[in-house]
Amino acid sequence: MKCFYVYKMVKIDLVKIPLPGLGIDKVNLYVVENKYLIDAGFYNIVSFHELIRKLRSINIRLCDIEAVLITHFHVDHLSLAPVLKDFCEPDFYIGDIELKLLRDGADLFVKNILEEFIRQGVPETEIKRIVDSHPVMRLAEIYKRDIKEISFKNVSDGDEIDNFIEVVSTPGHTPGSVSYKIEDFIFSGDSVLPTITPSVIYNRYSENPLKDHLNTLRKIISINPKAIYPGHGDVINDPVSRAEELIKFHKNRLEEILKFLNRNDYSLYEITKLIKWRVRYNIWEEFPYPERFFALGEALAHLIYLRSEGLVDYYEKNGMIYWYSKAR
Ligand SMILES: [Zn+2]
Repeated sequence: MKCFYVYKMVKIDLVKIPLPGLGIDKVNLYVVENKYLIDAGFYNIVSFHELIRKLRSINIRLCDIEAVLITHFHVDHLSLAPVLKDFCEPDFYIGDIELKLLRDGADLFVKNILEEFIRQGVPETEIKRIVDSHPVMRLAEIYKRDIKEISFKNVSDGDEIDNFIEVVSTPGHTPGSVSYKIEDFIFSGDSVLPTITPSVIYNRYSENPLKDHLNTLRKIISINPKAIYPGHGDVINDPVSRAEELIKFHKNRLEEILKFLNRNDYSLYEITKLIKWRVRYNIWEEFPYPERFFALGEALAHLIYLRSEGLVDYYEKNGMIYWYSKAR
């Protein structure tokens, strides 16, 4: 566990919490000035126990936490919030679009995406397996009941919490992702990550999620923070280079997809299988179902971006969508 001070002596402690059964190793929570917690963590007894144990090792009791600042609605960042609420009643902050999404229903958010995947050629048998394995669907009861009981304070870009924590809207990874800025340091949630590329998927809350994400990365470059404290992995000491790297990654992926469509018309399902994903699986059939959800969603976000640039379009044939390049 690390404790560090940003330059005007704001005390920050990093608390890494395990995520059993989620396919990701750990999530980073940050304790600011012994009383603010950035992100709540994962609804699992091992995670909860580890949070209490680690707080105790830095002489903080759970109920010293007066406010929990949520970056986005994903299970590893938010789902433990109802437990923290029932123990100590801290204040909870979240971005306004993320709050709308939660009120409409996080399960509905996922279901709407899956409905679109069917229209885009994904077999229904595969959709069923994705539903059963999706992290939000596995915790659907927590989202439907317990999280809805929390009275969040919603925040938007430029808001200040207690005159020293600035809210920076960073949509893309999720439609209402926010980061928190203290001095020249940004707590980014999953909007910028050090080693993996944040997932950016199609959804009904954003017309162009990849455009949102690229704009977020450009915003980070213009803010030029000294460091980024991400939701997973190590501190990013050169945020501008990392943001530029991520922009380049997506540009390459856009070119890759355009190359496929310059050869042939494809459904989303076919394109997703053609993309060279940076994963340890060789073929689509080896992809775990939750990862198929993110791969399909990400490929669709790229297609929507290419369409907004006037480079590709789609047509419907026998109730299914096919994409084509306008250059062919
Ligand atoms: Zn996330």
